[in-house]
Amino acid sequence: MDIPSVEQIIREDIEFLRHCPNKDNCAACEESVCVMVASVADFPTAYGHFTIVGFVNNKDNKDHIMIIKGDIGDGEDLLLRIHSACLTGDALGSLRCDCGPQLHHALERIEKEGRGIVLYHQAEGRGIGLVNKLRAYALQDAGYDTYDANVMLGFPPDARDYEIPAAMLKKVGVKSVRLLTNNPEKVAELERYGIKVTERVPHELPPHMHDREYLKTKKERFGHMLELDHGWD
Ligand SMILES: [Zn+2]
Repeated sequence: MDIPSVEQIIREDIEFLRHCPNKDNCAACEESVCVMVASVADFPTAYGHFTIVGFVNNKDNKDHIMIIKGDIGDGEDLLLRIHSACLTGDALGSLRCDCGPQLHHALERIEKEGRGIVLYHQAEGRGIGLVNKLRAYALQDAGYDTYDANVMLGFPPDARDYEIPAAMLKKVGVKSVRLLTNNPEKVAELERYGIKVTERVPHELPPHMHDREYLKTKKERFGHMLELDHGWD
């Protein structure tokens, strides 16, 4: 059996969506998990030249995307970053977290590698949403850490789920990845949903005075593999 190319999958999905009775309302779809490529476009950036791919799904009604560099080919050992959306960090230059530099560094790294994917996961505030994240910030200003703040708001410390990201990866033919992450939970979750992680590639940036406490919480309470010892302030 021929393995379909990414281009072929994309063409077929776009054609499928054209005729899907639920295309304007994925939530009405009764499939257990349906993830479809909705659009693909050229994507030149300050970090390099990529392809940007938009997905729809029937589980969470969120606009997850992929930024792809090079050929996925046999789908083995792709350098992958799954980046959780963070409006404040990604777009507004927030120093409360390390998301912005992590995202941009991942794009740079994948550009340099010549082959890989940044999966932009719409899971703002570890899955609790933007406004709830700002509520958690207010609690942090009152002295609680990000873990306790989420729990005080009635959420799990980490509310992210990787079923859809894993299905997106499978959709474009990814089988195994070298995952850019400091978070062992992300490795375990991807493997749970059938994507093999052949290597965890550390993705640590130097802390600074504003995010040192946040990174300490990531290390001590979420089990992230961080050194936090760059001699920076
Ligand atoms: Zn952030």
